[in-house]
Formats: sequence, C-alpha cells, structure tokens
Amino acid sequence: MSFSELGLSAKVLAAVADTGYTEPTPIQAQAIPQVLARRDVLGIAQTGTGKTAAFTLPMLTLLEQGRARARMPRTLILEPTRELAAQVEENFTRYGKNHKLNVALLIGGVSFGDQDSKLLRGVDVLIATPGRLLDHVERGRLLLSGIEVLVIDEADRMLDMGFIPDIERICKLVPFTRQTLFFSATMPPEIQRLVAQFLSNPVQIEVSKPASAATTVTQLLVASGREDWEKRDVLRGLIRDCDNLQNGIIFCNRKRDVAVVHRSLQKHGFNAVALHGDMDQHARTQALDQFRAGEATLLVASDVAARGLDIPAVGHVFNYDTPHHAEDYVHRIGRTGRAGRTGVAYTLVTHTDAKSLAAIEKLIGNAIPWQGPPLGEAPPREKKEGRDREDGRLRGKRRVEKEGGGEPRREREKAPREPRVEAPARVEAPARAEEQPRSERPRRPQREENVEARPPRRERTPANEPADMSHLPAFLLRPVRVKAS
Ligand code: AMP
Repeated sequence: MSFSELGLSAKVLAAVADTGYTEPTPIQAQAIPQVLARRDVLGIAQTGTGKTAAFTLPMLTLLEQGRARARMPRTLILEPTRELAAQVEENFTRYGKNHKLNVALLIGGVSFGDQDSKLLRGVDVLIATPGRLLDHVERGRLLLSGIEVLVIDEADRMLDMGFIPDIERICKLVPFTRQTLFFSATMPPEIQRLVAQFLSNPVQIEVSKPASAATTVTQLLVASGREDWEKRDVLRGLIRDCDNLQNGIIFCNRKRDVAVVHRSLQKHGFNAVALHGDMDQHARTQALDQFRAGEATLLVASDVAARGLDIPAVGHVFNYDTPHHAEDYVHRIGRTGRAGRTGVAYTLVTHTDAKSLAAIEKLIGNAIPWQGPPLGEAPPREKKEGRDREDGRLRGKRRVEKEGGGEPRREREKAPREPRVEAPARVEAPARAEEQPRSERPRRPQREENVEARPPRRERTPANEPADMSHLPAFLLRPVRVKAS
C-alpha cells in the first residue's frame, strides 16, 4: 500500500515523500482513512509503530480548511511529558512544512508570557502537557470551545503519572462534538473507563498485541550480584563486549541511580549523558540533543523521562535494573528494534528480581534466554579492590579492609551472624511523577509571571499574522499583567 491511497492531501503527501517513507506502517494504513472520515479512533499501539504520523498526517489534511481564531485553538494534543510534546511538535514541523499553520507548545518549565502571546495570535495545533494547559485555562487566557480534534496520546503513561483527573477535566472543557483520537500501549481498566466515557463509537485499531514486544529485538538476561558495584561492573562488561555498539539506552528504576550510573560510566571513560525528571529542562534537552546527534553514545535514563521518546536507530537497551512493572519492560525494549530495525536488549537480573522477572515473562508470553550462566548457577563475583574507581584509589571502607582493619568481605559473609535487632521497616516515599498532577503542585510565585509577561518583539510573518479576534471581549486581548507582590 502507498501513502497516496489513504486520502491525504497533496501538500501532506509531498512532505511525506521528502522524509523518504515509502509505505505507511500498519497503524498509519488503518488509522489515517478513519481520521479523515472524522471517526473517533482508539489506537492500541506501542511507540515505534509510527503512531505519531498516524494522527499528525490526517490532522494536517483536515486543518487545510478553516483558520485559527485568537485564544481558541482548533486542535489539541495531550502528551504526558515535555519531551514527548516537543517530539510531536517536531513531527508537525516536518510533515507540515508545506502548510502555514500555527503550532504552539504548552509545557511546564517554559515562560508563560511567550506561550500566552502565541495563543493570542491564534493556534491551529496546540500540543500540551495537562497541567500547563489547565493553568492557562484557569487564567482565562485559553478557550477550549473551538477544539475540533482532541488527541490523547500515551494514555497509560498519563495514568501512571496521575494525570487522569486532569484529562477528565479537559475532556469536559472541549466541545461534545469534537473528534477524539486516543492512543495507549495497554488498556488497563481505568483507561477502558476513560474510553467508554469520552469516545463516541470509536474504530479500534490494534497493531500488535497489547504489551507484546517487537519481534526484531533480541532479548537476553544477564545474571548479576545485587550490590550496586557488581551491577555496574556487569554493565561495563556488557557494553565493552558489544561488537557494534553505536548507541544504547541504560534504564534504571530510580532517578538517584541514573545519576550514579551516569557518573560511574563517565569515570570509566564512556561517552554517556543522563536523563531524569530532577534535571532542569535545559539539561534534559541538551542531553537528548547530544544523544540524538550521536555526540553521546550512551543515554542513562529513568522510565518516565524516556517514555515514548523518538530516538531513531537505538541499537541496544541495557536494563540496569529489572523493571518493577512488567509493562515498563515492554516500553524500555521498545526503544530498540524500531520501524523494523534489529536491536538487542539486555536485562541485569539479581536474586531480588525473581518476582519482577516472572511477571515480565508472563506478560510477554515467553521465557527470556540467559546470556552466560543463569542466576542460580552464576559463580559469585569477586570484588576487585579499586576496580570501581577510574583513578585506582580505594574508597574509605575498602581502604580499611586492605590495611587489615577489617575482615575481607567474603570471609565476613561466611562467618555466622550475631542475631540482630531488626530495624523498623522504612516507609518508602511514593515516587514523584516527573510532571506532577496539577492539584499537587505549588502555585508559581506571581513575581515570576510578571517578568515573563513581556514577550520579545517578533517580526510579522504570514505564520504569526494576527488572527481573527472579533469573537473575543477586549479584556482577553490584553497581554497578561500580574502585579508584582
Ligand atoms: P512513533 O511510533 O510515532 O514514535 O514513530 C517511530 C519511528 O518510525 C519514528 O522515527 C518515525 O520517524 C518512523 N516512521 C514513522 N512512519 C514511518 C513510515 N511510514 N516508514 C518508516 N518509518 C516511519
């Protein structure tokens, strides 16, 4: 099948031809005609299937009729993270290069003032994270009553991040008559409820089994001791043993470990960058750009930060930790083997991971083979003094061992233990979603808003020409001005 059979406009087809895609992916072939026919679509698809173009291309065709009005966007795309939102914007820029459409991004960590002046000019495509979108709505600077198409992308990730109440609110603010395109890799009950409530007689398109892994990925388990230094050692060995490592993503379960593994790899001379939710937006973008441009070979990341990122041709995925949630495993290994390419995914497994591994194998429906001896048979690894430090110096505790101030580690493990008074169980703090739900976030101090309220002067081009404002009362046309406290 070719793109020309799907009903897309000539401008869109020309842009697609320029990208070099020769034929639509299965989700594109099935979804595009339905979107053009104005049907609601429920797409069950993981990232890497080409789902972004499956909604971007027909939306561009539909948007050729009509014009944006000030503060009333015509279409709205909701994304769970800033990175994903920025990625969708890139898709609109790439495929919409023959259109004169205004695309605006409403994401956290970016000035309100600039976003506000874009809204005032009139927006054809609004791409937003739920929290920042509702902030603008609450300030009265954004009206959702003109939305013709609503896209909810990565719905299951929205659920993980606690965004469902925000999504429900937004669905009630957009017109009842809008078209809804809804994408999720998996369909847990909360997501099914959302679909039943907000989609109208949707066409269901499922391009692969929910939570099934891409078949072009070779998956392997690697046994490791449970100590952090042992895991880092195994990881380094794996990376060094890769024949053709062009680039790879290393996933950690905790943000803290992302930073530790990143620093350790750098110390050992690997070209690595990190991506986790505690980094500021500039550092995240910079790391991602370096990795995309091939300036960094390895990206150490947490699940939320890396979810759905479009990084083409990732050859290797290393699960430094076995993921606690089986579905995260599928998403992680979905970073490789994309669009028909081959990839390798290694997962480090320790004795504490038995439950998580069983859940993963149950979800994907088969046992993952081991590279090297399976966990039970793996010989215990000897800790080499100083091997974890690039400069050869020993850490405090190990220096004591060398100087005879303590028993060698393995001896100590064999010695019978003194009965120990159990410490009270530590209550784990709940993991913080990287884009927190709005209700939990502190309000931004007003002074900052005032500073942001003065957007820089721009040259007038056809793309930023003032929109039709006749429908708005005068007070909505004034730029945001908040009194400094
Ligand atoms: P997505 O699932 O939207 O994240 O897309 C995954 C990757 O597939 C992206 O790098 C796209 O550029 C690429 N892609 C999308 N559509 C096609 C196509 N029809 N042929 C080849 N690659 C594509």
